[in-house]
Amino acid sequence: MTDIKELLLSRIRDVADYPEPGVMFKDITPLLADPAAFTALTDALAEIAAHTDATKIVGLEARGFILGAPVAVRAGIGFIPVRKAGKLPGATLSQAYDLEYGSAEIEVHAEDLTAGDRVLVIDDVLATGGTAEASIELIRRAGAEVAGLAILMELGFLGGRARLEPSLAGAPLEAL
Ligand code: AMP
Repeated sequence: MTDIKELLLSRIRDVADYPEPGVMFKDITPLLADPAAFTALTDALAEIAAHTDATKIVGLEARGFILGAPVAVRAGIGFIPVRKAGKLPGATLSQAYDLEYGSAEIEVHAEDLTAGDRVLVIDDVLATGGTAEASIELIRRAGAEVAGLAILMELGFLGGRARLEPSLAGAPLEAL
């Protein structure tokens, strides 16, 4: 294992049966509280932003905001929040997606993404891929291009990567 992988993994806490029985929650708050680990993560994500020629960062609510914002500052490009429905005050594009039980909806300000943008999506954990898939759909509907998806941790057994293959259409999915 590389040094950075080891460092990042050592700062992620497994919390059993949270928020519901059967889920192993990956808690990144120890990583955020450690400046060396948070800086290493930000550097690695900023490198992905650079080599994918991203012109904007989209962060997925809520931990994608914490990870994505310093990357945007480091890369010198804009940060765009994709939020749960009903939180953004301006005109939005919305995308509904299915959860295990029921459905959810995410939104972006329509004016924040335009044709010519190359967008790198950032989040902490890729599980089923439903949230990331809906965000990619939003970006495409706004007329922008998806430069890639960068995440801290992929839960491989849930099959998110395979699910996202068609929507990523060749854009890289990088899991640190
Ligand atoms: P999914 O849409 O199933 O890929 O779920 C991804 C979203 O849910 C991300 O925004 C994650 O922050 C959160 N998430 C899903 N599973 C976990 C987990 N086991 N630990 C922490 N966060 C999770």
